[in-house]
Amino acid sequence: MHRVGADDVGRAVSASAVEPRVRAARALSAPSATDRPTVSFELFPPRNPDAAPRLWATIKELESVHPDFVSVTYGASGKTRVTTRALVRRLLQETSLNPIAHLTCVGTSREEITTIVGEFLDEGLRSFLALRGDPPTDQSGWSAHPEGLQTAGELVALLREIEAQRCADSPSQAVRARVRPLSIAVAAFPRGNHATGGTRAQDVASLLAKQEAGADFAITQVFFDADDYLGIVAEAREAGVTIPIIPGIIPTTDPARLLRVQELTGVPVPRDLIDLLGSADDELERHRRGIRASVDLVNGVLDGGAPGVHLYTFNQHHAALDLLEGAHLDGGARTAPDLASRPQDTAPARTPRD
Ligand code: FAD
Repeated sequence: MHRVGADDVGRAVSASAVEPRVRAARALSAPSATDRPTVSFELFPPRNPDAAPRLWATIKELESVHPDFVSVTYGASGKTRVTTRALVRRLLQETSLNPIAHLTCVGTSREEITTIVGEFLDEGLRSFLALRGDPPTDQSGWSAHPEGLQTAGELVALLREIEAQRCADSPSQAVRARVRPLSIAVAAFPRGNHATGGTRAQDVASLLAKQEAGADFAITQVFFDADDYLGIVAEAREAGVTIPIIPGIIPTTDPARLLRVQELTGVPVPRDLIDLLGSADDELERHRRGIRASVDLVNGVLDGGAPGVHLYTFNQHHAALDLLEGAHLDGGARTAPDLASRPQDTAPARTPRD
């Protein structure tokens, strides 16, 4: 089987992924350092010690494009509490990256959440993605811990409360908090939240509640049509949501993974996209087609006013970096891509939150 090589992918992306019209438009309004769209990545903790070296090789590659932040998932029911914390700690200590820890309310009392947040803050973390989380797979519906929280909005409020208490308890901490304020992200669902049976209108109401509780910005669930993202942004603005809403984008190079994501999130993958990828003659062509489709999506949301892009990496850097390069968002970091010995995408089609 043909393996994807450096020249192949470099050509695939730079020669054909970006429409000339879009390239010309970008050139006319060449972004300065300050209005450059934000770039960020989602990572998940290694599932076992053997996966750690590969993850760290990926992190080093991702670091080369100077992302604005990387977010680290919290496994369903908080089952990765220890590994999420270990990864965040190492990112803080050993990299230039700015980590955001995902945090959920599932199966956890208010007191336990307060302890977990305190541990993160003690280690120097200043950013969280506050989520309600999904119930464990063996549980049919959502029910909060008897002494826990019901919604992500309540978690945002608790984070603000914890921070205020720490500042009240220590004047030094109060100063540090002014220098490095706590930043809280939340989730948004362009097609409504399938997992909770919620519509987009309900999600906009929930987003407004999260903003009122103190959220600073939102990151969306995956979507495959720029209009889904632009639609929720328009509805959210109409409802009074003013915080930035960053589109969450999955590089669409792996049909098996896309179908698994569809199964888990309920976000339908367009049949055309699956057919496009499935009918490719070889892996190189599949990769090229997938990157081109993702670049189109990124261009669609950026042209519609998105502040940046958050890429679901699945702990792999090749597709994410090719996508950024195709959309001219890698800051020129990959002028001479060294992809000659690129491995095939062999990771299982699982998702970070399985
Ligand atoms: P909430 O905002 O609390 O919403 C839950 C339900 O309550 C929704 O139906 C909502 O409409 C409703 N609701 C809440 N407040 C209101 C209100 N005031 N008015 C009306 N309705 C309201 N899961 C994990 O387990 N680990 C992760 O690391 C993780 N990372 C994620 C990252 C992103 C970017 C996204 C988009 C999702 C992630 N998830 C993760 C999945 C997420 O936890 C689930 O989708 C969960 O079902 C919803 O979380 P939420 O934070 O949106 O919850």
